[in-house]
Amino acid sequence: MTDVGVLKSCPNCGSTNVTVTVERQDVPMPEGDLSLCVFAPVLTCAHCGEAFTDDSSESIRDKAAQKFMTIIRERNDAKLRAANAEAMVDKRLPELERKFADVYRMHSILLANYDKAINDLTRIRAAIRELVSVTSDVDATGRLH
Ligand SMILES: [Zn+2]
Repeated sequence: MTDVGVLKSCPNCGSTNVTVTVERQDVPMPEGDLSLCVFAPVLTCAHCGEAFTDDSSESIRDKAAQKFMTIIRERNDAKLRAANAEAMVDKRLPELERKFADVYRMHSILLANYDKAINDLTRIRAAIRELVSVTSDVDATGRLH
């Protein structure tokens, strides 16, 4: 308890002999069994003993509650966004798998064509070598005269 000694008047007896202490206060939350703990001013009348809070205490509790609810809301939003993103991937999975299969098939066709082209080229080279060997007028560079 911290005595901050601010002069206020008591709502019960009107005395201004009031001390302010900062005390731990629980703020119940609208949902569930949650309550927040804040440190806010409590005013105590020295004359009649009445303890009361004022606007500054109320404002501290409101701000804490709002901040808490904002954090909860943001956390729920983030959870919702993550769940939506996951659902989106699940929904798109068959399409993605199909696309992958298409690409894989195309790749296989390209590879097969490549192998065929290499085979053709080898055959063409062999045919040229054979043609060159039956031609006598070939110089060192392989050019025909
Ligand atoms: Zn009083």
